[in-house]
Amino acid sequence: MISDAHFHLKQLLEVSPEQADFIKENNFYGMCSCRTLEEVEFVENFIAKNPETVQKLKISFGIHPQAPDEKELKTLEKLVFENRIAAVGEIGLDRFNEEFAKTFDLQKKLFVIQLEIAKKAGLPVILHIRKAIQEVFEQIQTLKELKKVIFHSFSGTAEEAGSILNHGVNACFSFGNALLNGHKKAIETVRSLPAERILTETDAPYQPKKGDPFSKLLDLVEIMDKINEIRGCDSSAFVSSLEPLSLTAAPLLQGSQDMKAGLGGSTEKQSEGSMKNRHDEGKQ
Ligand SMILES: [Zn+2]
Repeated sequence: MISDAHFHLKQLLEVSPEQADFIKENNFYGMCSCRTLEEVEFVENFIAKNPETVQKLKISFGIHPQAPDEKELKTLEKLVFENRIAAVGEIGLDRFNEEFAKTFDLQKKLFVIQLEIAKKAGLPVILHIRKAIQEVFEQIQTLKELKKVIFHSFSGTAEEAGSILNHGVNACFSFGNALLNGHKKAIETVRSLPAERILTETDAPYQPKKGDPFSKLLDLVEIMDKINEIRGCDSSAFVSSLEPLSLTAAPLLQGSQDMKAGLGGSTEKQSEGSMKNRHDEGKQ
């Protein structure tokens, strides 16, 4: 099984339509992150047209901290009420640069409200946090009351991740190409966390490997190998799952070598624009 705790289906297929085949042909499970109703409908239509993906794809929706819009709370409430999403996210806090920092108060307000909506609905949350770990600890009591908290593309330290768990939050931390790109904090956190707290993600098409124009689902195989290398364990020893997100539990790294062999013929259409440049520092 290969799983992606966080990627953007609509944007990914726009740059690389062949990724749809990867989803259909492999033992793949993924959480499609959406920030608009239109994106949610896109994923729903994709699943309807490709019934073999019903068990493979789940949808999350949240007001992204880089585009905080209070009006979208109604969309979230509607989607929760209609039982159309498996998780709330990505939501969170981002003051990576001055532009994002300007909306920080509104981000905070929407973050707290969305956490409450997730809590009431009994849904997991997917968090996007940059340069705001202190504010996360301010919400630790609410986080503890949530079913599951996924820190997408976690950029904090190993100590901070450990502290979140020690506070009793049912948290997982997902990692992607940052590991292949040599991000030291991410590597150190992967080394220190219990295996069951680690998930893989691509954030595709964002956060590509160095030199690639965009990230793709096949990157997950290399990411899994990298996690094994960092942790010094063979693939059969490392088990993780997206089960908390109501997907099937299965060994994450089962036969990643076979996976590679089986994927040898996969083709990638290279897009001209770099996804990294299109989006602030890649992370979405
Ligand atoms: Zn994202």
